[in-house]
Amino acid sequence: MANPLYDTLFGRRAGRSTPFLHLGDGQTLSYDAFLRLTARYAHAFRAVGLASGDRLAAQIEKSPEALAVYAACVQAGIVFLPLNTGYTGDELSYFVSDSGANLLLCDPAKSEALRPMAEAAGAALMTLDAGGNGTLPDAARDLPETFETTPRAGDDLAAFLYTSGTTGRSKGAMLTQTNLLSNAEVLVDYWRFSSDDVLLHALPIFHTHGLFVATNVILLAGGSMIFLPKFDVDTVIAQLPRATSMMGVPTFYTRLLDDPRFTRDLLAHIRLFTSGSAPLLAETHVAFEERTGHRILERYGMTETNMNTSNPYDGARRAGTVGFPLPGVDLKITDPQSGETLPQGEIGLIEVRGPNVFKGYWNMPEKTAEELRDNGFFITGDLGLIDDQGYVQIVGRNKDLIISGGYNIYPKEIELLLDDQPGVLESAVVGVPHPDFGETVVGFLVPQKGETLDLDAIAGAASQSLARFKHPRRLIVLDELPRNTMGKVQKNMLRADYADLFAAA
Ligand code: ATP
Ligand code: MG
Repeated sequence: MANPLYDTLFGRRAGRSTPFLHLGDGQTLSYDAFLRLTARYAHAFRAVGLASGDRLAAQIEKSPEALAVYAACVQAGIVFLPLNTGYTGDELSYFVSDSGANLLLCDPAKSEALRPMAEAAGAALMTLDAGGNGTLPDAARDLPETFETTPRAGDDLAAFLYTSGTTGRSKGAMLTQTNLLSNAEVLVDYWRFSSDDVLLHALPIFHTHGLFVATNVILLAGGSMIFLPKFDVDTVIAQLPRATSMMGVPTFYTRLLDDPRFTRDLLAHIRLFTSGSAPLLAETHVAFEERTGHRILERYGMTETNMNTSNPYDGARRAGTVGFPLPGVDLKITDPQSGETLPQGEIGLIEVRGPNVFKGYWNMPEKTAEELRDNGFFITGDLGLIDDQGYVQIVGRNKDLIISGGYNIYPKEIELLLDDQPGVLESAVVGVPHPDFGETVVGFLVPQKGETLDLDAIAGAASQSLARFKHPRRLIVLDELPRNTMGKVQKNMLRADYADLFAAA
């Protein structure tokens, strides 16, 4: 029996001296060196008792070593469970105990602080000195450089990834070998990745975007990555001339546009920019094309399903849409009440089915049963529609839908209007409890640098163009919107902070 994920993504590159990772200071790590490191880690994990099917939780900084841990888990049949490097204290302790991890891997500097927590959760603790250049930690130095790959079936778990926690507590999504492999295969083809590609990688690797989308696509294509510890405008601008492609979240693109040094002269080799994880504003799309001549390709995915849709590589990339369902992915829009499929143009729940759809939430059988239908469709929790040309548009999250006085209100419609007002950089609209209407609309506005907003004028503009029940009852100016590490706006925090706004009304 084989191990399809390992064999396809990693095994085929054994012995290859071609570059896999380009690191700082001009250093490069070849596929061969990377896979030798991987084999040693696989031995190290076996040596501490991890068996096939066990779970390894890793909280380690982005580094080649962290990627080798992922590869070693796949090779040894261990379920890889990357944890956000920002988690601390109770939060981290929750994820380690909730996941039932058999082992927690962390940076040496954290081991003393984490030991009692790991013990309480029943997880062994192991440290990994991620030097950041693929050099071996002491523990692995004497271990063999080859490892006999553990057989796994397509339906076996490969990884276990917590969702971003944008709408509430993160859920553990169980992902199989087939989930990851099928998506990588589709994306390499759809986005035309090849061994000539040099991907600028500035995303975190504890999230589906940076780990499974970006990394798996490059591994499958046999290309290489400029592997940056984080998104830093100076470094990205310095590295872009070597890159053929970049995958980013919308804030990467707005930050690049803010920098006058970011010009088309840097992009001699670039063939593709993609954006996802959060909505890309149509304005950013247009401004980016004006500055660089490139149209960002926006796509839509999530922890539970990897990638669902993408704008076309060759055809028109429509701003404000996430493109078409990927080959093999069925997508439909359904009525939240009846579950019936809705006609083109109507807003409803986005449901998807395909080999990319996860096996369920860890330890949450009820939630899994609610969201994964018997017919294989997964209810994504996003609201959207299919436009007249078949492109999917995301309208927002079902949880962010405002129901005021019996009317359904989609925050995005109001946000688009607020974003267009003079001096407004960005906005977020949420529903907060109201004694008469159940919920009512509140708009949060972030001014552009140095601008003072004329709230009366903005309220006036809103009342001119929107039906009365959609008028924001209050406009509140903030320095910035609360966002998580992927740049997603955390509306639940705004709702919680302003829950009592109309309590005395
Ligand atoms: P949680 O499920 O814990 O609340 P989350 O949904 O943000 O967090 P992820 O799985 O990281 O966790 O993100 C998936 C979500 O990101 C999608 O359901 C969708 O709401 C949003 N998203 C992804 N790509 C896009 C996009 N191109 N445009 C708009 N939204 C997007
Ligand atoms: Mg989600």
